[in-house]
Amino acid sequence: MTKSKDTKRLGRRAFLKAGAGAAALTGLTASEALAAKATKSTRWDLEADVVVVGFGGAGACAAIEAHDNGAKVLIIEKQRADHHYPDIRMAGGNFHSPDPKGNRASLKAMGLAQMSGDNLPWKLEGEQNEIADELAELWATHSVENLPWLMSLDPEFKPARGGGPAFPDFPGAKDSGYRWYTASYSGKADADVPTKDLPKAQKMNGEAFFACLSTGIANRKIKVMYETPAQTLVKNDNGEIVGVVATAPGNKTIRVKARRGVVLTTGGYEFAPTMRKAFLEGPGVEGWAFYGSPDNTGDGIEMAQAVGAGLMGAGKVNGRLIAAVPLRANGLRHGVVTDTVGAPNTIVVDNTGARYMNELMVATGNSRYFSYKAAVAFDLNKMDFARIPSWMVFDETFRSTKTLASMGFGSVGFGLVPWTHDNMDAVNRGWILKGDTLEELAAKIKAHKDNRSLIDAKTFADAVKRFNDGCAEGKDEFDRKVKATDGLAKPPYYAIPLYAGGPSTGGGIAATAQREVVDWRRRIIPRLYVAGEICQPFRYIYTTGCGIGPAVTFGRLAGRNAAKLKAWG
Ligand SMILES: Cc1cc2nc3c(=O)[nH]c(=O)nc-3n(C[C@H](O)[C@H](O)[C@H](O)COP(=O)(O)OP(=O)(O)OC[C@H]3O[C@@H](n4cnc5c(N)ncnc54)[C@H](O)[C@@H]3O)c2cc1C
Repeated sequence: MTKSKDTKRLGRRAFLKAGAGAAALTGLTASEALAAKATKSTRWDLEADVVVVGFGGAGACAAIEAHDNGAKVLIIEKQRADHHYPDIRMAGGNFHSPDPKGNRASLKAMGLAQMSGDNLPWKLEGEQNEIADELAELWATHSVENLPWLMSLDPEFKPARGGGPAFPDFPGAKDSGYRWYTASYSGKADADVPTKDLPKAQKMNGEAFFACLSTGIANRKIKVMYETPAQTLVKNDNGEIVGVVATAPGNKTIRVKARRGVVLTTGGYEFAPTMRKAFLEGPGVEGWAFYGSPDNTGDGIEMAQAVGAGLMGAGKVNGRLIAAVPLRANGLRHGVVTDTVGAPNTIVVDNTGARYMNELMVATGNSRYFSYKAAVAFDLNKMDFARIPSWMVFDETFRSTKTLASMGFGSVGFGLVPWTHDNMDAVNRGWILKGDTLEELAAKIKAHKDNRSLIDAKTFADAVKRFNDGCAEGKDEFDRKVKATDGLAKPPYYAIPLYAGGPSTGGGIAATAQREVVDWRRRIIPRLYVAGEICQPFRYIYTTGCGIGPAVTFGRLAGRNAAKLKAWG
């Protein structure tokens, strides 16, 4: 059996050694049969050198870089042009761009720790140790280009300076020169101001980031086909991916030929019920909520699997503990960005009414990147997921002075979930439960179907009392830093359910560090690339900027690699 040129080229890599000997591409497997087959008589409706599937953060970067490396590029996008809100646009807009003058070996060590944990003494095994070293090397080399590259797309782009490493004690963190920025055209960053409908000069957060990428796409005249969800990949007899079948407006099936390669950048599976059940911890459907695009339904994962792709860290989530509302998309509830967990005059209790943690661990410090794991813990004594949901409980002082959900981005900023600064719209809709007394609030929680009648009014009242007493004494039973005014002192009282979740899932398709898709035996599927949340490189610890940063670095890499291939046929 002959191997394609690409398979031969790539088979030389150490990464592939284990599987290369057996890499002969034999007849169709069951999963391959789900994909379309290219034959000599295949009629193509459109063609390009590189076809990018998904016009989000990673897709835009892949498309621009492929174009700049000499490829004719076509982007296929599922959403309508007038309702195009990918996660990159809905995002907070924080992205990595380390100082090029930092120590490169240190930057690599820091990347390795976050991407795989290989160099952390307490990590039992690396998350993706076959590729982590090369992945970290690529990140250390190219992430420093992020800011200058974005400025080259649009010189008016004026990001606000963010901060340094979230884990200053990690290997290399101190002298790595690591930095993150927040996207902006005004030089300012404000998470509470929606800028979707403002002129470009006032845009901030993900909206500003997407405006910068869109400028790069428009200046290069890269064609975007909106309202055209990709359905399947097309494979030829050599096992190469040579095109995409999509549904164009008017329900028309089109075949798009990709002369050099296809880059899948369709995001995560936040709004795909079956994938959530398959991959997420605990009850994947009812135990979780996400606050990004409802059109991220794992399509790319399904398409790549159908041509034989393996999975890597498929259950990974960029999450914490967030509030959710009864509004649903694809049968799954919308979450809201809830950076207020742990704020003064608030606590979190489980479904029985008991506190179980220092709430600040959800919103601040490095624990926040793992806090979703606490929310899906199974209670062996109660034989129940007693923390699904948990409840953020607060008093009138919090309600009247703080906005629970971030207004500037995410599901609220993009109008998927209505919210008002005084939180009263959510109270009036019954999304936030209200009681004049704690007993009344406990009764309302009990009547909520997700509580499953688990709440015990006395446990609940005791939890609030102990917290209030602790605030008065300046000492909390869970070691939360408290002061006298932090208690839940002013009625009425309120509660909203919290679930594990956040911006996006981060796991999925197995790929090399160069972002070539591989099967379960780590053999490359030629001409197929991935980038973005479909294959999040920061597998072990996702911190600020870990979504957008790698979407730029590795989206560009995937686009560049696809563009450099020789056209097939
Ligand atoms: C509210 C929110 C806040 C965030 N804040 C930050 C932050 O501050 N910093 C950070 O680093 N990360 C953040 N993220 C994550 C970040 O947005 C993503 O990591 C980044 O956008 C890369 O995502 P992506 O390109 O994989 O997906 P997206 O940007 O979501 O793009 C995927 C695209 O694929 C399209 N698509 C899906 N299926 C198909 C199909 N079948 N055919 C064609 N097109 C399809 C989608 O419509 C979408 O346009 C945030 C995310 C959210 C939701």
